[in-house]
Amino acid sequence: MRISHETSDDNGWLARDEASTDLRNIPLELSELAAEGMRASFAVVAGGLVVCSICHARSSATGVQVVEVRRLEGSSDPDAEAIVLGLRCPSCGVLGGAVLGYGPTASAEDQDVLAALNLEVGDGG
Ligand SMILES: [Zn+2]
Repeated sequence: MRISHETSDDNGWLARDEASTDLRNIPLELSELAAEGMRASFAVVAGGLVVCSICHARSSATGVQVVEVRRLEGSSDPDAEAIVLGLRCPSCGVLGGAVLGYGPTASAEDQDVLAALNLEVGDGG
């Protein structure tokens, strides 16, 4: 007589790669910016330009007002850095967030825009 115990090793927990990088905070940062009224998003394009998601205007980064700067560093991957910016579109005036690569792995487009933007936010914390 055999009793079959079907032992289940299904612990039911999902492996989370929490240690991968702090860059997972980007959605959180963006949601916080959205909560502050930054409802647009800006994309970086070649030539030091940013594109507004609301009016689709391409604006030179030199003319874009920076209202928020948040740097994120990858704890386990020092090369994986990003910067989350709150920007004001000079065309339609909407506030929105942008995510740019930062550091040695940043794309040329991101570096151009970062160099053109004035990151000296007056009320920085
Ligand atoms: Zn706009």
